Amino acid sequence: MENVMQNIKAPTGSELTCKGWTQEAAMRMLMNNLDPEVAENPDELVVYGGIGKAARNWESYAQIIESLKKLENDETLLVQSGKPVAVFRTYEHSPRVLIANSNLVPAWANWEHFYELEDKDLMMYGQMTAGSWIYIGAQGILQGTYLSFVEAGKKVFGTADLKGKLILTGGMGGMSGAQPLAGKMAGAVILVVEVDKKRIERKIKEGYCDYLAEDLDEALKLAKQLQGKNEPASIGLVGNCADVYREIFDRGIVPDFVTDQTSAHDPLNGYIPNNMTLDEALQLRKSDPKKYEQKAKQAMADHVQAMLDFQTAGAEVFDYGNNIRKYAQEMGVANAFDFPGFVPAYIRPLFCVGKGPFRWAALSGDPEDIYKTDALAKEMFADDEGLVNWIDMAQKMVKWQGLPARICWLGYGDRHRFALKVNEMVASGELKAPIVFGRDHLDSGSVASPNRETEGMKDGSDAVSDWPILNALVNTAGGASWVSVHHGGGVGMGYSQHAGQVLVADGTEMASEKINRVLISDPGMGIVRHADAGYDIAIKTAQEKNVHMPMLKT
Ligand code: NAD
Repeated sequence: MENVMQNIKAPTGSELTCKGWTQEAAMRMLMNNLDPEVAENPDELVVYGGIGKAARNWESYAQIIESLKKLENDETLLVQSGKPVAVFRTYEHSPRVLIANSNLVPAWANWEHFYELEDKDLMMYGQMTAGSWIYIGAQGILQGTYLSFVEAGKKVFGTADLKGKLILTGGMGGMSGAQPLAGKMAGAVILVVEVDKKRIERKIKEGYCDYLAEDLDEALKLAKQLQGKNEPASIGLVGNCADVYREIFDRGIVPDFVTDQTSAHDPLNGYIPNNMTLDEALQLRKSDPKKYEQKAKQAMADHVQAMLDFQTAGAEVFDYGNNIRKYAQEMGVANAFDFPGFVPAYIRPLFCVGKGPFRWAALSGDPEDIYKTDALAKEMFADDEGLVNWIDMAQKMVKWQGLPARICWLGYGDRHRFALKVNEMVASGELKAPIVFGRDHLDSGSVASPNRETEGMKDGSDAVSDWPILNALVNTAGGASWVSVHHGGGVGMGYSQHAGQVLVADGTEMASEKINRVLISDPGMGIVRHADAGYDIAIKTAQEKNVHMPMLKT
């Protein structure tokens, strides 16, 4: 078994090893999640986001692969927190895989109970795209991060161009590692504080970060020089945010934007406490988990207090989706929620029109297939300047990780039109193998997360998780290739419920029928969720695009 797990690479090309392209796609995407180029810690099956895993253990991984290889075209494999538990006869049009990860009955939904179950090997943490096999590396969050910076720029300075501006943030792991490149793409100088030097080195190797600094003076000097020249660039500074943010503040430096994307959602296996070295922290995590957690939460409180001070001093400060405000509040920072989350601050209008982090991957493994889909997107959406610029920038700046893929925030109406054309390109042989379409669970109509995606909803429905459940149900009914329902992604146990779907365009008529159902209902749920909550843009979009809502009040 040991050898199975080393250097996993998804097979590429047009040769099938399973009994159909949907099973093949699920297998390749699971393997791709664990490709060392893609995953943060593949030896432990960890893909990103603290301990977000693709399968419960190596035995489960091997059995999932085995089951997918044998799975018939009218069967469905059930996966419970990363373990394959059953295969049932369904329909050809049904999903081939149904996944439920990390779900706990609400009164038990906390890290303590989760870790008890994990210790007994009864559960794993699926994060969002880790356990649902549609992670595509740092690119998956790149455009969303770029959009957040650009929207923040528009709000504060009235311009999307952040030249000469300074962004301060934390974390350079799986998703947070998109920040340095996204900040640079937006034109800014971005200083990212990361406690683990190896993570910065990896991002430099991957082309996501420009400079490594080991000393705050050196980093600040460099940032000032680059800002003076209006030169977009990224600097990774080795340090702990809980210390460094305060030191920067004490020197009287107020960055234009301050945020953070360390793994604060998990005080035990994510966030690193300050006043000790990284090695000491990792030792303490093992020897005294309770003390570790306490120290991590205290460090989060210091970290958030410094962010609040930056806000008072005039910086644009926002939470970047890791629940750090909640833990700081628990530790006595009463006004931790004085700065907003990034969704209500910048992203919600996009959710109202069904837009979100849509992505696709080429099962051929050939970048040419992605370049052809890029050209199609630019042609189909030529009047969307932002989208065209995005694809040009991504082609120049994003290095492939694992299977070639593209992230592109398409909305309702555009997703299915685009996928239908791609399906035709697969059918005609213009593309060498099928394309997999998917999205983050952080999408417009697939998540309930009161400290993140559904923070401050207009009608107060932040914690209503009927929506992601309906999303998974309708995508299952519509015949998505695989569907997942998770708990705790992004912000940790007890704080979110969310759903994912993936659809394979294999060039068949059946694929186009499924596209016409799933890629309409899935983003449609985003419009419905926000129209129901009373957002004018969503109501208008529902009316203009004939989204059928029996009780929509206008
Ligand atoms: P990760 O675990 O791969 O990386 C987190 C990084 O933070 C690690 O490199 C770690 O060394 C570093 N770190 C931890 N504590 C630190 C500290 N005190 N000071 C400096 N560095 C520290 O996780 P990830 O995939 O990068 O995700 C990070 C967080 O962002 C998670 O909480 C995740 O749930 C959240 N997230 C947000 C979004 C979004 O759109 N806003 C999307 C995905 C994930």
